[in-house]
Amino acid sequence: MRVRTMLEVVELMQPAAVELFGDDADIEVGPDVVIDNREATEGALFVAIPGERVDGHDFAAAAVEAGARGVLGMRTTAAEVPHVLVEDSIAGMSWLARGIVREERARGMVSIGITGSSGKTSTKDLMAQVFEAAGPTVAPAGSQNNEVGVPLTACRVDADTRYLISEMGARGKGHIAWLTSLVGLDVGVCLNVGRAHVGEFGGVEATAIAKSEIVADLAPDGWAVLNADDPNVAGMASVTKARIAWFGEGELRGGDLRVSARNVTMNVLSQPSFDLVAEDGDGERSARVTLGVIGRHQVPNSLAAAAAALAVGLDIELVAGALSAAQQRSSWRMELTPRPDGVLVLNDSYNANPDSVAAALVTAVELAHGTRREHPGARVVAVLGDMLELGPLAEELHEETGRLAADLGVSEIVAVGDLAGQTVAGATAEGITARTADRDEVVASLTLNPGDVVLIKGSRGVGLETVAAELAGQG
Ligand code: ATP
Ligand code: MG
Repeated sequence: MRVRTMLEVVELMQPAAVELFGDDADIEVGPDVVIDNREATEGALFVAIPGERVDGHDFAAAAVEAGARGVLGMRTTAAEVPHVLVEDSIAGMSWLARGIVREERARGMVSIGITGSSGKTSTKDLMAQVFEAAGPTVAPAGSQNNEVGVPLTACRVDADTRYLISEMGARGKGHIAWLTSLVGLDVGVCLNVGRAHVGEFGGVEATAIAKSEIVADLAPDGWAVLNADDPNVAGMASVTKARIAWFGEGELRGGDLRVSARNVTMNVLSQPSFDLVAEDGDGERSARVTLGVIGRHQVPNSLAAAAAALAVGLDIELVAGALSAAQQRSSWRMELTPRPDGVLVLNDSYNANPDSVAAALVTAVELAHGTRREHPGARVVAVLGDMLELGPLAEELHEETGRLAADLGVSEIVAVGDLAGQTVAGATAEGITARTADRDEVVASLTLNPGDVVLIKGSRGVGLETVAAELAGQG
């Protein structure tokens, strides 16, 4: 945020109920707002959040020692600086974020939000690199997409920021509506509606309704960036007053924009190239994009990023250039390690749901197509951890994933977790080699040959990143 006095901080948080405690209301805080005392910088405002194991209020004094000059919390602390007191710290930080963003939007900052079942962080990273090419941009580090991460990220905008990008996750109705009420979107992006967290939502339709909140509050001069190829997303056109920027083959009405990919090709490392085509009432423009990130699913992700950028007026050559230069920023997502022995390790161990596993399997199979030029017998081995949070559909979806892997041409599956048996059942029903294993046994149990592609993917809770690291370090 801009450096400001504690009194101004309180004013910015209005109309919320807050109280200023301490003698020096004129003391200046900022630019950083932090929730971790180890990240406190000179002048920072420290937000004390009570956690499950530790209470941030106990660290306020340490934050002040590190440079913080004000505290936002629920009670006074040992820190001898002014305190803004609120009933709930996260709500307090959210009101602050809302005030900060309101002020910067009033002078023209553009606020963009992204949701979807799969690919939010990947798309956010691409989009951040596109907007950074046009002006100062604030985007979350990693996957900070909840009621803490969104306002904390938003607090980083200042008088220079031109673009704020927020990743928005949802586990139920109202979650995204709350986040959009904080950062007041000019552009709302919905990537896809799939089966991630269906257990919590109670079905794909309920998921679609919850995700549609990303476009529900947009103004008529805002933009809804919608996936024309996903019926559950395309349907969101009816719940928004904003103009539509389609990605994929959507129907073009007056005022709308359509962004699509033509002549898609993949290189041996599964990096896509395509003509980025933008159409509106005035005609058609295009520019070639050659991605450095991996996997066919990065085409729709790139189109979503491009649609948001083109909608707010960025030049297509700038957009295509920035996409081509963009790198993978968040780890454990499609990290490709070519080993000295010719084995390709594809580490996608960050998370998993049926749709993202499908995307990863396709990528692994395409990579093997490439290595077979040199190693005709190259196989795809998929180490698949459980997909969590699928509720009553879990068993069925694991079996379906096993079958899909076999159908796509995976040679061998090693399944890890409580539902590994279902994955294996699906795979063996389609006639491929499949077995279950404990996480610690996986690496020793694999026989890999030059040209083989080994994919590692599972939900965060399964912790397959250790397997991926060990496999990447071998050979
Ligand atoms: P989270 O809900 O955990 O924040 P996310 O939506 O941010 O997840 P990412 O971290 O970007 O998703 O991607 C996770 C994985 O999803 C990727 O590694 C890839 O396997 C897959 N993925 C990415 N983009 C897509 C897409 N457009 N469609 C399907 N799967 C995708
Ligand atoms: Mg994410």
